[in-house]
Amino acid sequence: MTIRTRFAPSPTGYLHIGGVRTALFCWLFARAQGGKFILRIDDTDAQRNVREALRPILGGLRWLGITWDEGPDVDGPFGPYYQSRRTELHQAAVEELLARGCAYRDFATPEEIQAEREAAVAAKRDYVYSRRWMAESPENVARFEAEGRRSVVRLKMPRTGTLVIDDLIRGKVEFEWAREQDHVIQRADGSCLYHLASAVDDYAMEISHVIRAEEHLSNTPRQVFIIQSLGYPLPRHAHLPFVAEPGSKTKLSKRKLDKYLKNRDFADLVDRGRRIAEAIGLDASPEQFNPVIVDFYRQIGFLPRAIVNYLALLGWSLDDRTEHFDVNELVEHFSLDRVNKAPASLDTKKLEAFQARHMQKLSVAEKAAMVIPFLQEAGLIAAPAPADVEERVEAVLRAAGERIRIAGDVLELAEFFTPDDQLPYDPQALDKRLRRPAGAAEALRGFRAKLAAAETFEADALERLLNDFLADEGLAIGDVIHALRVAVTGKAVGLGMFETLAILGKPSALARIDRALAQV
Ligand code: GLU
Repeated sequence: MTIRTRFAPSPTGYLHIGGVRTALFCWLFARAQGGKFILRIDDTDAQRNVREALRPILGGLRWLGITWDEGPDVDGPFGPYYQSRRTELHQAAVEELLARGCAYRDFATPEEIQAEREAAVAAKRDYVYSRRWMAESPENVARFEAEGRRSVVRLKMPRTGTLVIDDLIRGKVEFEWAREQDHVIQRADGSCLYHLASAVDDYAMEISHVIRAEEHLSNTPRQVFIIQSLGYPLPRHAHLPFVAEPGSKTKLSKRKLDKYLKNRDFADLVDRGRRIAEAIGLDASPEQFNPVIVDFYRQIGFLPRAIVNYLALLGWSLDDRTEHFDVNELVEHFSLDRVNKAPASLDTKKLEAFQARHMQKLSVAEKAAMVIPFLQEAGLIAAPAPADVEERVEAVLRAAGERIRIAGDVLELAEFFTPDDQLPYDPQALDKRLRRPAGAAEALRGFRAKLAAAETFEADALERLLNDFLADEGLAIGDVIHALRVAVTGKAVGLGMFETLAILGKPSALARIDRALAQV
């Protein structure tokens, strides 16, 4: 059997972390089994511009390296891959179900159905639909239509017995047919519903494994009924547990940002994200800029491999030890039988730890390639970056070490890329470190003279220069270094002082000290 999985997003305009985790598991399973991964767009209910609403979904999947073998922009033998362009096939299936007596046209009005329900409740008995307006023959249809009635098509579901599904994650799941209603598969306007379209397309696309979110488990009996009624082979099902909120077992939602902000780690990440967004002029509205949405991570400079690694472990594990995987290792080891049944919560702290870990493995040149676009977006360096600027970026990255955890963090070090005459001074820091302490300005002026005379401007030599100066003047390190930092960076905290001076170079360091001294 050829393994074929599909991810079937609706064009919602964003890629949800839970959704992409489903896509990843489908993709990993297909890759691990040497099968195919199909991307099918469930756009039958799409209200708006599908292309537009699809862009972040396709973009997000591509960014993460979740590539599809067939789907939008990748033609294959089972297209079209947009459900809205497959309506003839859906219509034919409806006709077939009608012809086989597995579905019927129902001419009941919503009010009539509601009345039946209420009567059942009032009589304290289980509601069983009377199928009173069921039209099975052309004569019935003609008669009801002559009365001015409109019809939907319903499945004529079994009313006794049990369905057992052998789910690859949940094991045997039983459903009582009696608990199912006669689900509508086609509306009065002729449009088909998702569960019909999906079952038909899965068959036509030769999907062998339907791997999807747990919330679709309840759709499975009606889909199995459709599949069996049409004589299709049953695909294997695997229902993934949902991705839960930070610190709880409730399903993660992009609309509950305010609630999640009570989680410290989550709030910290959002804060950092907002600072980056502000520096590069991104729209930071919670609709799009939100850790529940994959694009958030791309926009602030996460590594796709870190996200993939984290998401893989959100519900799957190889053993109870191994945590760090590159994507090839995931493909090698992934299997559905090691997927958990219980939901796993989004833990942004853990995600950041994966990011830090994958970042550590990069060379300085690789990190530079990641951060340069952020500096360009912020208008701090030119595009394309001149060679000496690239060198400076690398020097800053070396000095920063693990402080740059996501690419956008580099914007916290804007002082290295700001022209000397435009460096902003944090007014509080200037006051506290240079203006108010008695003798601070004078000490800084004295050390400036030493810097001006320095022959080499390297970190070690500069440290010695300061120590000699302190010894000669009988000063403590604190008497100079804080003022010096504010003067050359505009801020109270930053990278190592001597490395900072070395990266800036003598002319820049002196110009900044002069500018700061002129302000006090
Ligand atoms: N379009 C459905 C969704 O967005 C897909 C359901 C399925 O995978 O069967 O959840």
